[in-house]
Amino acid sequence: MKASDSVDERAAGAVLDIDLGAIAENYRRLRATAPGSDCAAVVKADAYGLGAAQIAPVLRYEGCRDFFVALLAEGIALRGLLPDARIHVLNGLLADTEQDFVDHRLVPVLNDLEQIDRWAARGRAEGPLPAIVHLDTGMNRLGLGSDETAALIAAPDRLDGIDLRYWMSHLVAAEDAGSPLAAEQRRRLVDWLGRLPPAPVSLANSSGIFRGAEFAFDLLRPGVALYGVNPTPGAPNPMRPVVALRARILQVRDVDSPMTVGYGATHRVGGKGKIATISVGYADGFLRSLSGAGFGVIAGRRVPVVGRVSMDLVTLDVGDVPASALAPGAFVELIGPHHTIDELAVEAGTIGYEILTALGRRYCRRYHGGLDHGGLD
Ligand SMILES: *Cc1c(COP(=O)(O)O)cnc(C)c1O
Repeated sequence: MKASDSVDERAAGAVLDIDLGAIAENYRRLRATAPGSDCAAVVKADAYGLGAAQIAPVLRYEGCRDFFVALLAEGIALRGLLPDARIHVLNGLLADTEQDFVDHRLVPVLNDLEQIDRWAARGRAEGPLPAIVHLDTGMNRLGLGSDETAALIAAPDRLDGIDLRYWMSHLVAAEDAGSPLAAEQRRRLVDWLGRLPPAPVSLANSSGIFRGAEFAFDLLRPGVALYGVNPTPGAPNPMRPVVALRARILQVRDVDSPMTVGYGATHRVGGKGKIATISVGYADGFLRSLSGAGFGVIAGRRVPVVGRVSMDLVTLDVGDVPASALAPGAFVELIGPHHTIDELAVEAGTIGYEILTALGRRYCRRYHGGLDHGGLD
């Protein structure tokens, strides 16, 4: 979404502020954790819902050369923004897409032997073609499993015609500091690498970067940490926050007799109380699981979501908030300095990734600290 596509602030129910300067700072912090490694940026799903068109050029300006997207379509769109970046497509080389990869100079992440054979055959005919090969060390989702890896170890000439940029693998539970899985995956990867042709290696996602130097290898692949979500759950967030979300109060209602609030009558006000209705709902990605579970902040006070989240509206118990802070049109913080995206994710029973990628299209989106003046503000 271009900035010009954003909803006008006066016409919107809620304002989403996105700090491009914080994303740039987060990129520098992540890169600095492993000075011997290159640092890529994962910008799939429109940069986790925050706008690849605004964010990718900022990261490129910071010196990022390697970008990862999920889909071929995302790669083609990103090529239009970044003429000289290396763009890698995680979801692989689907049948009959080879010419698109060549035309847009995209690098496929090859996920099985069939993709390797198809890309290598074309490379042998036309000159070497770049690729990453994904080795599945435990995710059981994409990549060459142990049988296919063994077959490649036995016949490494299947890679002839491929300009192998990286061996890649992906961690299952990097964010769980107590889990032994990351170390097991690393051992399996190192064992395979010892028997495969040499090439640079990429393993660590955001959380993997914080597992220590032995996970860094040659190329870091952070996504969510760039966008301010805590890559080290349970420990302080080493990243700068990137998004702030505020919704407008539409109406404040005094309740003085026992009554219920919202669809399904799930919340009962016992006696005297005050309910504020704000202009955000599940159609905006304010997840319905926040019904009776989420919080906002008004005038420094935490206010709970009461009753069901509806499509366009949320009701808050504001009984403890001074009336002066409750004028219609005033804003309630939903994500920001007093209520982090990680807190909201826990309240919703999900992860920051889903909160980000669900952020809706009806917000007034405002970007700060961008490249408008020929450099970062
Ligand atoms: C999404 C993704 C990443 C980025 O993961 P984060 O946890 O967001 O840092 C890295 N590698 C692969 C293969 C991915 O699919």
